Amino acid sequence: MRTAPTILHLDMDAFYASAEQAAKPSLRGKAVVVGGVGPRGVVATASYEARRFGVHSAMPTGQARRLAPNAAFLVPRFHLYREISEQVMALLRALSPLVEPLSLDEAFVDLEAGEVAWDAASAEAVGVRLRADIRRVTGLTGSVGLAASKMLAKIASEEAKPNGLVLIPPGTERALLGPRSVRILPGVGPATGDHLRRAGILTVAEIAEAGEDELVRLLGKSHGAHLYAMALAHDDRPVVAERDSKSVSVEDTYDVDIHDRVRVRMEVRRLAERCVERLRGAGRSGRTVVLKVRRYDFSTLTRSETLRGPTDDPAVVREAAARLLEAVDTTGGVRLLGVGVSGLADYTQEDLFAQAAHAAEEAEAEAEAEGAAGAAEVEGAGEAVGVSGGSEAGGGPVGGAAGDAQEAAGGEAADPVEPAPRRWLPGHDVRHAEFGPGWVQGSGLGRVTVRFETPYSRVPGRVRTFLVDDPDLEVGEPLPLVEPLKEASAEPG
Ligand SMILES: [Mg+2]
Repeated sequence: MRTAPTILHLDMDAFYASAEQAAKPSLRGKAVVVGGVGPRGVVATASYEARRFGVHSAMPTGQARRLAPNAAFLVPRFHLYREISEQVMALLRALSPLVEPLSLDEAFVDLEAGEVAWDAASAEAVGVRLRADIRRVTGLTGSVGLAASKMLAKIASEEAKPNGLVLIPPGTERALLGPRSVRILPGVGPATGDHLRRAGILTVAEIAEAGEDELVRLLGKSHGAHLYAMALAHDDRPVVAERDSKSVSVEDTYDVDIHDRVRVRMEVRRLAERCVERLRGAGRSGRTVVLKVRRYDFSTLTRSETLRGPTDDPAVVREAAARLLEAVDTTGGVRLLGVGVSGLADYTQEDLFAQAAHAAEEAEAEAEAEGAAGAAEVEGAGEAVGVSGGSEAGGGPVGGAAGDAQEAAGGEAADPVEPAPRRWLPGHDVRHAEFGPGWVQGSGLGRVTVRFETPYSRVPGRVRTFLVDDPDLEVGEPLPLVEPLKEASAEPG
């Protein structure tokens, strides 16, 4: 293990919710819940204000509404989050070639590999500067953990939240971990926690005292040995950049479950193509295609198929993913889909794929036809509408507008030619011919309530209500959270 705290873990603070608060001045300092707003929606992120009511991610939105009835409930705007994520990852890549993203808003960085830090002081200086840069570029805050291992760096960023930096000096790890609950260790969920508690093991120090044999007896060979090593703060896992990894995968979480099988297939195709793009971008090919499906009840399954040789052919990956999907029951609805390729090699044996050439031609024609549909985001799929709360909403948002015409239209699969019908999802951007940019505060009963404000408004904007088919109202684009620099203007005076 290294002797300097030069592994950095960055985690943006309440990422989606913070982005929404930055975009919507009226929500700053308020309880905001981003997630699925449909009947079986689940919370993706809750603002710190909402967490005070006990709301947390992965909680059913219905439960969150009962806990925080006055919170704003918003449908995610993944386009915006992805753009911000790219800005953040670019800042990290400027520090080191070894950046390992864990999600849109979380990554490990090996500062030593980037030669930007070699000891505690230089590592801390990098962390301080990074946090300032993230603030300046994205308008949002992120927390930084610094330690000599990935495990401790992640624990440190958790301690640093929100909007902080924690450095764990090498040599102090065991003293820090010892008195903490076993739950602080990665891989210890409620079940393992219970199991250990029944054996009288509550703290990390007690794991260390119990010894490896006892841990293996309790939890099995690999989990037990792994946990014992973690308790001793032994963690040698390297930060792995995507190009060096053993697999490449992409996944999407949907705010509203996808029920339509045709839609599920289309999403899997899109993911397969994105996955191959990344694979090719890294100059790699792989042998095993993996499909990941998380269903409405959060049960997650993965299916894989190993090919006869490595490929980076989109048609081959797409077809393998499609075959894997056929064996998966998705009738209850799908929350998340992922496609990955593992068993990576640096070369391709195209000739092993007799079927590929034929499949590729067919797929290319289809891909062209699909281009337009592919652009239609999945965010709007399914039933939605209704921000509850928004205390000062004159004319107010109306929740759960069952039977609304908008809703009936929403169930259809995206059509590649016809533009999708306008749907006013809470939190999403609109533009009014006279009043300019704003966002949907709620809709229902044939009306949509809009708050007219931008990320740059100094005070909360005004609320107005329109008929849902008002010709002056159109779907808008997310505005950057940080106002783009204007041309240097010759200000008089
Ligand atoms: Mg985060």
